[in-house]
Amino acid sequence: GVDLLTFGEALVSLRSAGPLAAGGPLHPHLAGAECNVAVGVSRLGHRAAFAGRVSGDELGGFLLRQLRAESVDVAHVTRDPERSAGLMFLERRTADLTRVVYQRAGSAGSALCVDDLRPALAAGARVLHLTGITPALSDSAREATRWAAETACRAGTLVCLDVNHRAKLWSRDAARAVLAPLAGHVSVVVASADELDLVGTPGADEPTVVAELLDRGVSTVLVKLGGDGARAYTGEGRLEAAALPVTAVDTVGAGDAFTAGYLSGHLDGLDLAGRLRRAVTLGAFAVAGHGDWEALPRRDELSLLDDLQPGSTL
Ligand code: ATP
Repeated sequence: GVDLLTFGEALVSLRSAGPLAAGGPLHPHLAGAECNVAVGVSRLGHRAAFAGRVSGDELGGFLLRQLRAESVDVAHVTRDPERSAGLMFLERRTADLTRVVYQRAGSAGSALCVDDLRPALAAGARVLHLTGITPALSDSAREATRWAAETACRAGTLVCLDVNHRAKLWSRDAARAVLAPLAGHVSVVVASADELDLVGTPGADEPTVVAELLDRGVSTVLVKLGGDGARAYTGEGRLEAAALPVTAVDTVGAGDAFTAGYLSGHLDGLDLAGRLRRAVTLGAFAVAGHGDWEALPRRDELSLLDDLQPGSTL
């Protein structure tokens, strides 16, 4: 088996340097939260695999080539000759404001189903990473996500869920109805502060939702706070880590980098403080460089930001 298995929709993101309506060149990149995590973990030397449904055309070929170039195992990707690749346009409207337009309804990735995931799950993994994006894509993708979480949890695999709410795909209530039950099969929950009540009681505050999750068998809750760093909760209490003081040039992908760092720390057997430090370090690499995943560090680059490390506080 691999160290980390993740699945979901690999997207082609098309980046424009200015307003989309004005035209001009678009540059294709591999995108998608789960792919970002797979690349982040792979760059650090772990064996990462991505499973999912990818279009049979040239764009699907592009996505696979990008994943392979990052040493991500794509042996269990299903090619779909009937459907096209999901697209994401990233429009740099102003220096500080990037808008996202999706064209992903009915895409190959959204047709993911349980049978697509059986071989990857059977091959085994130390960690299974899921996001709250995949179950928003279609009924079959929702069922596949639930099945994978249950199956991996039963097999003793560490299951990680990043809530990753996508308001363009579903409402908060629709998301909660699916993600709150899903959290019952999960060991690690990752969320932004404003997403936390999507896996608990509507409108409940952070301590309340954390207590609910720990009660239900979640072992670690990670709350991402952007430039303010992150908090981790376990049965033993709370740990905080400050963000590293880097110059942020592109914040897209910071959350996925954070999760990749945390899971890499888990695979390396680090304690909670070490895992959280690795997580904020990868988040800092992501925001300090351009692209969703391109700026993520190789293992021999991890120490590049060490001088900025403020140390975590208990
Ligand atoms: P996205 O959805 O864009 O991937 P997110 O909202 O899921 O992001 P954030 O909380 O923005 O996630 O960022 C994740 C982590 O990245 C933070 O916990 C922090 O450690 C790091 N980070 C984010 N913004 C900055 C910043 N401006 N400077 C340094 N580190 C940052």
